[in-house]
Amino acid sequence: IKKLAVLTSGGDSPGMNAAIRSVVRTCAYHNIECFGVYRGYEGLIEGDFSPMDARSVRGIINKGGTILKSARSKEFRTKEGRQKAFDKLVEAEIDSLVVIGGDGSFTGALIFNQEFGFPVMGIPGTIDNDIVGTSHTLGFDTALNTVVDAIDKIRDTASSHNRLFFIEVMGRDVGHIALNAGIAGGAEEILIPEEDLGLDRLVESLNRSKKSGKTSSIVIVAEGDKIGKNIFQLKDYIDENMEGYDVRVSVLGHMQRGGPPSCFDRVLASRMGVKAVESLLEGQTNYMVGLINGKMELTPLDNAIKGKTKINLELLRVSDIMST
Ligand code: ATP
Repeated sequence: IKKLAVLTSGGDSPGMNAAIRSVVRTCAYHNIECFGVYRGYEGLIEGDFSPMDARSVRGIINKGGTILKSARSKEFRTKEGRQKAFDKLVEAEIDSLVVIGGDGSFTGALIFNQEFGFPVMGIPGTIDNDIVGTSHTLGFDTALNTVVDAIDKIRDTASSHNRLFFIEVMGRDVGHIALNAGIAGGAEEILIPEEDLGLDRLVESLNRSKKSGKTSSIVIVAEGDKIGKNIFQLKDYIDENMEGYDVRVSVLGHMQRGGPPSCFDRVLASRMGVKAVESLLEGQTNYMVGLINGKMELTPLDNAIKGKTKINLELLRVSDIMST
């Protein structure tokens, strides 16, 4: 390969900049010309890209978000849109593409490859950790640290007022953020879509905590959990069915997607960028790079898109024991 383009697509996550930096510098190292595409597939269709050299990515490893901007592109979902993107790449003599994003972005990349035979490589960037083929997606670790920090702060006020706090965290349809941050933040209960605790068991468990002498409680609720989906209804239900608690709700929201990436995410991003570019150099295409048992490995994009991540049952058990 001689000319490579890199883009960020879908929801942003901390560590995307570190990954862009790594891709650009790995290209420089191997004498490959590198282009940064602005606003994901939208920019690809418009030909909105410019050359990036090793110095153009200075000072970004510690920045959240993405300097290339991200977007969702309706047009790329159409054959005409993808044709335009292909024409722009051919015009610029670009011969390979690194896509940093989630499963939607990978689906687009795979379809693009199948239509035009264009070499593509994915880097999983999302805080939700909902992609198969890597134990950690980029941004997951940073989001966990952000959430734990928020839980610690909320606990201070919860324990000063004998309050029961429901804290809603992100994670889409999976409970990885809730389960990990819940354990680390010492939550009494963690509601995740994979487990489906149910209201009765939640009330039972909160009553048990109260009897055991706890005066304040923190319950972490994954946004994708069935009873958590309407967290304010959950609050009303607890208000009506349990006495002696002042119930409060805190929805953490988009702060979970921001902030400087953690050390772990910076190292992961750096490794993923190197692996992505060097795999394309070796002639590999339609893969996603990921961390498996501590090593950088490739997973077919198709598997990454279709697979469903599993919750770690050992963590569930640890969480149960910790709330005794
Ligand atoms: P996140 O998990 O953070 O939402 P994502 O990559 O899954 O990230 P999506 O909005 O699902 O985010 O996808 C990003 C972009 O990928 C879409 O806006 C679209 O341009 C492209 N894309 C998604 N699905 C397809 C598809 N089936 N065909 C072509 N392009 C697609």
